[in-house]
Amino acid sequence: MVASGTATGTAQIGVTGLAVMGRNLARNFARNGYTVAIHNRSYAKTESLVADHGDEGTFVASESVEDFVASLARPRKIVVMVKAGGPTDAVIDELVPFLEEGDIVVDAGNAHFPDTIRREGALREKGLHFVGSGVSGGEEGALLGPSIMPGGTKESYESLGPILEKISAKVDGVPCCTYVGPDGAGHFVKMVHNGIEYADMQLIAEAYDLLRQGLGASAAEIGQIFAEWNTGDLESFLIEITADVLQHVDAETGSAFVDIVLDQAEQKGTGRWTVQNGLDLGVPITGIAEATFARALSGSVPQRSAAVGVLQAHTSEWDVTDRDAFIEDVRLALYASKVVAYSQGFDQIAAASAEFGWDIDRGAMARIWRGGCIIRARFLNRITEAYERDANLPLLLADEYFTGAVGNGVAAWRRIVAGAALHGVPTPAFASSLSYYDGVRAERLPAALIQAQRDFFGAHTYRRTDRDGTFHTEWSGDRTEQTA
Ligand code: NAP
Repeated sequence: MVASGTATGTAQIGVTGLAVMGRNLARNFARNGYTVAIHNRSYAKTESLVADHGDEGTFVASESVEDFVASLARPRKIVVMVKAGGPTDAVIDELVPFLEEGDIVVDAGNAHFPDTIRREGALREKGLHFVGSGVSGGEEGALLGPSIMPGGTKESYESLGPILEKISAKVDGVPCCTYVGPDGAGHFVKMVHNGIEYADMQLIAEAYDLLRQGLGASAAEIGQIFAEWNTGDLESFLIEITADVLQHVDAETGSAFVDIVLDQAEQKGTGRWTVQNGLDLGVPITGIAEATFARALSGSVPQRSAAVGVLQAHTSEWDVTDRDAFIEDVRLALYASKVVAYSQGFDQIAAASAEFGWDIDRGAMARIWRGGCIIRARFLNRITEAYERDANLPLLLADEYFTGAVGNGVAAWRRIVAGAALHGVPTPAFASSLSYYDGVRAERLPAALIQAQRDFFGAHTYRRTDRDGTFHTEWSGDRTEQTA
């Protein structure tokens, strides 16, 4: 059913920006029984939504922003789903003159969280609510139920939350949407979600490469191994689609599809933002960083061209004698590395939450990632349980479940990382995750030497293990120690 764009003020929710994501979100709202006001900069997209899907629910189509705003019931709830960056600001600027106190503007695009903090502040001054909301699940998730990570004021969530929860994915009847925290918290959590997605994808790619090079298995055979893994602890959307992709054959050449795809991974930038923020906060998110750099290395064409066939390898054939044992080793190494990546990502959320005063419930974040989003996975339940046992858990890896689950695979993890090094298979994410694991569990780190060096050349001082205080040694003089 379609109403024309007159100022009826009945629509319960509005969507502006009707490209693939906005169009599907609008349909999702309508299919869930909401009257949806729709608008797009160019009217053709609005018309096409009405023509193609007008029978799925009640849409109120408007050509002008003024009519669009007027078609909404108050307090107005408007979802902006346009290209992130300048376009989002442009749309907000167009909307604001027509809005009234208490109205809610939701940016559901992939905004960088500092922009969300800025926009929230600006709209709050005008008496408006601004909700920066992460939405994950791509095109299909937007239509059938995404994972939704809304920030903003708690007050705005009271009226907006039930609508978002209704259209979100459900796992065991629980919505994959919850209030995340003030201003930029929602987009921050979405950013870390994407960073973890980078790590997860890189780890899966390394596991595939290990199986290919270690076993000499075909892509289709490895696809079957992934399908088998998807019945156990590793069950997840990314493992499932990997099994599918690896078994797909290119129609034109008859080759495995993965073999005809150029091996240069691209990115839209959320991985980079996550790594930059990890550096800003001083949180070692090595899995996400290695995954982001691995994409960069794959795209470093001149460097790769200069190195292929030139850099010495000194490797030997990987002579795997027990196929099943090797596959199980790779599976255990993948699981352990994956837990490290999540543990680091949740540390980053905790650090940002403390820095910005967001009070983010990490267990709830794992819960809303269980369905709808790209990193949806069986083991997220285990993460929620870990934070339910201890909301202030300092290290996810140290939770009683994960110490056991990862501990069982440590020997396998070492065999795989050592084997990869000996046989020249690049495994940056597997290897750095194991190094992180060994680093974080070490009783003593060589950082002591770094502090001593810093004091030597820059008088940067050091603390001692045996008493409180800050000290400096007169390195260029008589080497006596002074209290700094
Ligand atoms: P998109 O290609 O990122 O953006 C196209 C939309 O933005 C169109 O509606 C376009 O209007 C509008 N737009 C661009 N510049 C504008 C301006 N200056 N003023 C007003 N409108 C403008 O669309 P998308 O792929 O559907 O993604 C929308 C948002 O969701 C993005 O922020 C994206 O990062 C985020 N997101 C996407 C996915 C995904 O899987 N695609 C997943 C999660 C989040 P016209 O039709 O008039 O050009």
